[in-house]
Parts: sequence; structure tokens; C-alpha cells
Amino acid sequence: MNCVQFESAIEALRTGAPGAAVCDQFRAHARSCPSCATRFGPYLKTKCSEITDFLCDYFDGNLQGDTRQVFDFHINACPECRCYLDSYALTVRRTRELSVASEPAPQRLIDAILAARRAQSN
Ligand SMILES: [Zn+2]
Ligand SMILES: [Zn+2]
Repeated sequence: MNCVQFESAIEALRTGAPGAAVCDQFRAHARSCPSCATRFGPYLKTKCSEITDFLCDYFDGNLQGDTRQVFDFHINACPECRCYLDSYALTVRRTRELSVASEPAPQRLIDAILAARRAQSN
């Protein structure tokens, strides 16, 4: 993968999941090319644990600008976080359904899932 391919891979990652093979090539190029690594540093440096910190803002619609791009990028590049996002979305939806049917919104449930996830990734 050269720098031009790297840049189009970044675009692919912003808009969708390009597949594991592209992700591997992408990481390999980022490691071997300092100029791309510098340019796209924020995208590459984002860790899974940081992404989970953005989740609440993401679902509240408060994630904007660069943060939103970095978030989208990581979610697309990281199958684990994408899977996590899906299950989180399901939890949020169920929680909202529950809180309509009864009281109070089980924030503790979300916290517990987040904590479990953190324990897993450590
Ligand atoms: Zn490069
Ligand atoms: Zn991740």
C-alpha cells in the first residue's frame, strides 16, 4: 500500500467497513510511513477504551467535528468496537423501552456493561 492508497483507505474507513485485509495493510503502512502516521495520527492513536468514553455523547447526538470523525473511523476500523456499538445501541434501545414502560432508567445496567467491556479489553 502506498500513500495514495492509504489516503483512499482512510476515506473507505470513514464511510464504511473495508474489511480486515485492508485494515491490516492500513496499519502496516501507518507503521512504516512517518508522514502518513503524523497526518492521520488522531485516527490511528485512538484506543478502544477512548472510544467507549464517546459512546454517551454519540447516542445523545453531541459528537461533532473531528471527534465524530475519529469515532466513526475507529468504529469502522475496529470490528470489536463495532460489535460493541451494536450491543450498546441495543441496550440503549431496550433501556428506553423499559423506561417508557416503567421507571427508572437503569443507568446501572449501562455502567455495568461498560465496566465489563473495560475489564475485557485490559
Ligand atoms: Zn504514507
Ligand atoms: Zn476498538
